[in-house]
Amino acid sequence: MESGVIPRGAEAVESDRSWLAARGRPAEGGLVDPFGRRVTYLRVSVTDRCDFRCVYCMAEDMTFLPKAEVLTLEELDRICGAFVKRGVRKLRITGGEPLVRRDVMRLFHRLGRFLDSDLLDELTLTTNGSQLEKYAADLFAAGVRRINVSLDTLDPEKFRAITRRGDLSRVLAGIRAARAAGHEIKINTVALRGVNDGEFDAIVRWCGDEGLDLTLIETMPMGEIDEDRTDRYLPLSRVRADLEKRWTLEETDYRTGGPSRYARLRETGRRLGFITPLSHNFCESCNRVRLTCTGTLYMCLGQQDAADLRAPLRLAPHDDAPLHASIDEAIGRKPKGHDFVIDRRHEGPAVPRHMSVTGG
Ligand code: SAM
Ligand code: SF4
Repeated sequence: MESGVIPRGAEAVESDRSWLAARGRPAEGGLVDPFGRRVTYLRVSVTDRCDFRCVYCMAEDMTFLPKAEVLTLEELDRICGAFVKRGVRKLRITGGEPLVRRDVMRLFHRLGRFLDSDLLDELTLTTNGSQLEKYAADLFAAGVRRINVSLDTLDPEKFRAITRRGDLSRVLAGIRAARAAGHEIKINTVALRGVNDGEFDAIVRWCGDEGLDLTLIETMPMGEIDEDRTDRYLPLSRVRADLEKRWTLEETDYRTGGPSRYARLRETGRRLGFITPLSHNFCESCNRVRLTCTGTLYMCLGQQDAADLRAPLRLAPHDDAPLHASIDEAIGRKPKGHDFVIDRRHEGPAVPRHMSVTGG
């Protein structure tokens, strides 16, 4: 057996149980930051690569990491396992485009063992949908039940322009396949002034017809791209006020553990979420940290401070104690909040890394 990797199945569940018995319930050794917030949600970017080049996310000629710097699937599994054993209840696999990583299904199946042993509540995925048709059924078999698919327009030409190379029909086929396999789908749409701001009614209606929830997202100033984000920034407070002229948005207290605030659309019965990092600060209730594919842990999406987990991982291939010590140290300096600002007085992105590094 490879170091630190437990095969899925009865043996793995038993191994997790004995780990708990020896160490106590995760709540006892849980991760609590200096502001008393419990860290229960880990987002894992399994690759920085992508088959799209969305204009707000990446430059056309992105330089990707050399493969040697990227953690193996076994190493990613080992870090996820360490977090799960410290009380993380939700894992989201993201990227770059997670489904373009070779053999990524092996990781999903391995992580699924934590669902079997009740150490994890949810294993989820954020994807651009381009490969979803191929993987939908296998993802369900691994234990995934909810998938976020990013889709900013329903117009095929505009879709190709935004993603610089994507094929809308493949994404729609992926969504259909995922629904048929039993997944709940949420669409993520980045609100872009002058690009898709005339389409929100159509997207809301389409989500209603297809039985999909929808989250609208404000652009965040992360990483150099080829255009000025201030030109595209659209405050969601304005989008919401406009939608409310035609749709009935009923308040809900529904939360998914993420930063979205949800309303229910009376006309469609579906949820509509708003992620507004710039116009509304969602940091007080932050329960998340983010791991990159090189083993760097970001304690806040909007700050540069990070911890290297690859060194302790590789230093002690058969002992997780140094890894746990590094995780404790990192959570001990999780900042109170981000300071994203997007306006013309601030030149360049607030955070130099791209969203594809930490996966949003
Ligand atoms: N490739 C996958 C996808 O597109 O869903 C997963 C990674 S992508 C970085 C995760 C989410 O971040 C997507 O919904 C994308 O639209 C969003 N995103 C990327 N760059 C962003 C930015 N600068 N501001 C706001 N959202 C961004
Ligand atoms: Fe790729 Fe997702 Fe970024 Fe688009 S948003 S370029 S699909 S990582």
